[in-house]
Amino acid sequence: MELHERDERRAAAEAVLDDLAAAGVVGVVLPWVDTSGITRMKSVPLAQLPSAAQWGVGMSPVFDGFLVDDSIVAGTHAGSAVGDLRLHPDLSRLTVLAAQEGWAWAPVDRYTQDGVPHVQCSRSLLRRLVDELAADGLSVRAAFEVEWALGEPGEDFVPALSGPAYGLTRQIEVSDYARDLLAALAAQGVAVHQFHPEYAAGQLEVSVAAEDPVGAADTALLVRATITAVSIAHGLRASFSPKVTADGVGNGGHVHLSLWRSSPDGRPENLMGGGSGTFGLTPDGGAFVAGLLQHLPGLLAVGCPSVASYLRLVPSHWAGTYAVWGLENREAAVRFVTGPSGHRQEAANVEVKCVDAAANPYLLLAGLLAAGSAGVQAGTALPDPVGIDPATLSEAGRRDAGITELPSSLGEAVAAFERDEVLTAAFGPELSTTIAEVRRGEVALFDGASPEDVTAAVRWRY
Ligand code: GLU
Ligand code: MG
Repeated sequence: MELHERDERRAAAEAVLDDLAAAGVVGVVLPWVDTSGITRMKSVPLAQLPSAAQWGVGMSPVFDGFLVDDSIVAGTHAGSAVGDLRLHPDLSRLTVLAAQEGWAWAPVDRYTQDGVPHVQCSRSLLRRLVDELAADGLSVRAAFEVEWALGEPGEDFVPALSGPAYGLTRQIEVSDYARDLLAALAAQGVAVHQFHPEYAAGQLEVSVAAEDPVGAADTALLVRATITAVSIAHGLRASFSPKVTADGVGNGGHVHLSLWRSSPDGRPENLMGGGSGTFGLTPDGGAFVAGLLQHLPGLLAVGCPSVASYLRLVPSHWAGTYAVWGLENREAAVRFVTGPSGHRQEAANVEVKCVDAAANPYLLLAGLLAAGSAGVQAGTALPDPVGIDPATLSEAGRRDAGITELPSSLGEAVAAFERDEVLTAAFGPELSTTIAEVRRGEVALFDGASPEDVTAAVRWRY
């Protein structure tokens, strides 16, 4: 970061101080997500925002090696108590928090003290991959669905609502809570598409509009922080854990993606629709989806990063445990969505269903972009879509249809990740090594633990 850029960042912060003060802001939260998927933070009082924008806020690189329980792996490139990084707030996402009076929020990029993006900063990595796609005239629109389980206070999970799945009763039970949540999200400029009660006990969901990938990951953080704040204000607890209790359906963190190309008339075209391929896919759109499918086993180490993730990832639980794609198939890891007729050119997208909210959203999108663009570059062919729940076939039937199951444990996913040259090249050697070491650390942490022990240990962590 050049000195003049530091000056510009300071000036941008100074320019918003009065408005923030008028909005009652006293402190600014500076969040980022670690390798294990936990959002960590520092904060500054309002008066320090210009300094934070210019020089960053110190935070140790040790957090790259943190595990879900705050223990630390002694990694090859992470986990050392020596050194310092600077958290630089991205003021383009500065938001006054509507559910935490007196606070604003700005996600950060992590830089070295010399002003170079930290090689293990997931937000910087994602931005670099977005820029690389843009150099080829391509862009991705993305959105995270947020599922959570709402519980009573206490360590055990006692659902805070009891009505039926997707039931009107549930919405009535949480009427004030949901109103406050929707109001806070709207005040923060989050474009919510839907709110609804989900399937599992106490489970709710918010979906939001698609945006550029970095924006989508930022929004995922903001939505979850808002849900947590509104839950606490109502005397409740929100769990985003992949599996809140050992039995039943888990929390997904599904990602919607569409690939766009800037056309000569300046209007981007959605490559997921209007083509001559299956379900209207264009050749590049199809190759992008094929790339996702091909790299899903390794991607699981990023998108399903917790030991608890594999308790969620069981067949016939709408979690998408098979490495297949299909039109509106909720048992396919990649569900193709055309949207209603008349709106398809805009709306067509793929939903990656197998992933969950323990994932660092920046790392996950970086992995998805790397996988999809590798498919585009190689012109990878899409396999036939699957229109059934593969679990209803016999093992031989699945083999004949070429249907494979995704890794069923974190250890298997890490091995697939390490074999995946596209993903490890995109992440770079330091970050790839840290991802593998942190995951192995979590595997060791829960060695021999029962599903009840695992779910209890991570229930309130994400
Ligand atoms: N809760 C399910 C999951 O674990 C997803 C339900 C749905 O299809 O929205 O991913
Ligand atoms: Mg859902």
